[in-house]
Amino acid sequence: MSRIAYVNGQYRDLRDATVHIEDRGYQFSDGVYEVCEVRGGRIVDLPKHVARLQRSLGELRIDMPMSPQVLKIVIHETVRRNRVTYGIIYLQITRGVAHRDHAFPVNPVKPSIVITAKNLSYAKNQATAARGIGVITVPENRWPRVDIKSVALLPNVLAKQQAREQGAYEAWFVDHDGFVTEGASSNAWIITKEGAVVTRSAESGILAGVTRKVLLDVIASLQMKFEERPFTPQEAYGAAEAFVTASSQIVMPVVTIDGKSIGTGVPGPLALKLREQFHGFSAFS
Ligand code: PLP
Repeated sequence: MSRIAYVNGQYRDLRDATVHIEDRGYQFSDGVYEVCEVRGGRIVDLPKHVARLQRSLGELRIDMPMSPQVLKIVIHETVRRNRVTYGIIYLQITRGVAHRDHAFPVNPVKPSIVITAKNLSYAKNQATAARGIGVITVPENRWPRVDIKSVALLPNVLAKQQAREQGAYEAWFVDHDGFVTEGASSNAWIITKEGAVVTRSAESGILAGVTRKVLLDVIASLQMKFEERPFTPQEAYGAAEAFVTASSQIVMPVVTIDGKSIGTGVPGPLALKLREQFHGFSAFS
């Protein structure tokens, strides 16, 4: 079955789905994106993703190309046309097409929008969670506005590649003060030997993850101890458990950091419990 993309008002076969070479997303990374999980053909926590999308666009002064209501319809139609039951949707909005000039176009242009949807292997994702992933730490070298879900991801790309070359799956950025900020494409968490779940505040240094936000509800409802504070790689090495969160992975246990085994060296029971409980707390649409 061929894949279908929504591109600026049309559903196109992926092979024919194109954007203009002077799109500012292509030339300047002048755009934002969202990734949502699809489960049972439904979108997980879509209103939270749309709210973050609107915020990211607002920070960059890019208009929403359509209302949230219409966007929801288009997303569902893209999922339907691609027959996605379990997988992800990817949505990207850029400032639009204009002759190359760093400053915003003098005459306003229409933002460009692309939406794709694809099936993923649920079994493979579950198998990865059962094994756990490895993480490396790398120096933070991103711009301070990581709260904007911008398509400018070069430091993330390089960090992820470094992780892969070192046999790991994810890279955690470490800031100038020696604290972990977040992963190249996920938020970072540890669970202390005392059973406290720890992650840093979304006030600065990280993207306010939708999965992070929903997981806070899970943690509260399970009456688990929670500490919102930064942690160092050294503290993480000695933690009972560690995990990352992202829409495409939900709660993914971490079993090594910089080659050091975390806890018992296998996915921790609390991380697995949080993973299991997660969808009871998310909204499906
Ligand atoms: N941090 C970064 C840098 C990310 O790229 C992502 C997801 O792509 C996240 C955190 C997790 O965000 P969410 O849970 O909304 O997917």
